[in-house]
Amino acid sequence: MFPVRTSLFLLPLLLLLLSAVNVHSSQGDKEPVYRDCVKQCVRTNCTGARLRGFESRQPPYMALTGWRCGDDCRYQCMWTTVGLYQAEGYRIPQFHGKWPFARFLCFEEPVSALASLLNGVACLLMMLRYRGTVPRQSPMYPTITAFSLVSLNAWFWSTVFHTRDTYLTEKMDYFCASAVILYSIYLCCVRTLGLKRPVVSSLVGALLILVFTAHVSYLTFVSFDYGYNMAANATIGIVNLLWWLCWCWQNRRTLPYWWKCGVVVLLLHGLALLELLDFPPLLWALDAHAVWHLSTVPVHFLFYSFLIDDSLHLLNTEKIGVKLE
Ligand SMILES: [Zn+2]
Repeated sequence: MFPVRTSLFLLPLLLLLLSAVNVHSSQGDKEPVYRDCVKQCVRTNCTGARLRGFESRQPPYMALTGWRCGDDCRYQCMWTTVGLYQAEGYRIPQFHGKWPFARFLCFEEPVSALASLLNGVACLLMMLRYRGTVPRQSPMYPTITAFSLVSLNAWFWSTVFHTRDTYLTEKMDYFCASAVILYSIYLCCVRTLGLKRPVVSSLVGALLILVFTAHVSYLTFVSFDYGYNMAANATIGIVNLLWWLCWCWQNRRTLPYWWKCGVVVLLLHGLALLELLDFPPLLWALDAHAVWHLSTVPVHFLFYSFLIDDSLHLLNTEKIGVKLE
């Protein structure tokens, strides 16, 4: 348990320290108008007295979140280019792999950042409720606590990434999200097989660490391939979905709360399909990704309600000496 969690936290950091910079480009930032605008802006505003003036005028929260003069140039030039595209009646382009978003204070994607924070808060509240309701002796208690911490870590990095997209924050968001999906498989394995056969969950845990290490290594050292990352997450997600659904179906007569688990896994995987609706942000704020992050906030409440019911059930069956399912 503990080594699995520690490795999931440390591996991305260790690998990132050794890695090289990768740049993702899109139609908007390939545009000569945009490139010339950035070059001109940096040359005029980001040296000498003008740079010092920029730095003295910049609010502290912008400097603290790493907004530099060049970033401001790219932001301003993005809107200049979007204006030209709109005037000519062309489709809104992406810049550096992302749609244009209106910045709010230091938040690059304010709605996704807020939604990630809300997911984190929902997760934290429900973890506290779980720990307040379920006695420590319940067999799933340590695994669920660890799962909550892995999830909180992922929502923290998601909030950071949507606040400020940098090489490091993007990788941390992607890798920590993969860690949650893999840990969810581990959680499912412990619940369905590991309580009776701990050696099985230890083997699956070790295998998942290997998968995670290979995944992060490939993305860091070989190629940061967005298509591969999405395909890998979708494959792991489907294994997760099918495994949980089989367990729900097998236990539908004995566990009255089985439906909560079924609804949660179907909702989480169904809502992930929202990501496929890739449209320019409404009001330069609400894109498919933000809608997806917003839609998962209520799911945490139902998921933890299932985990609480199930942990209490396991404790009761242990007390009365009934064999675990
Ligand atoms: Zn996100």
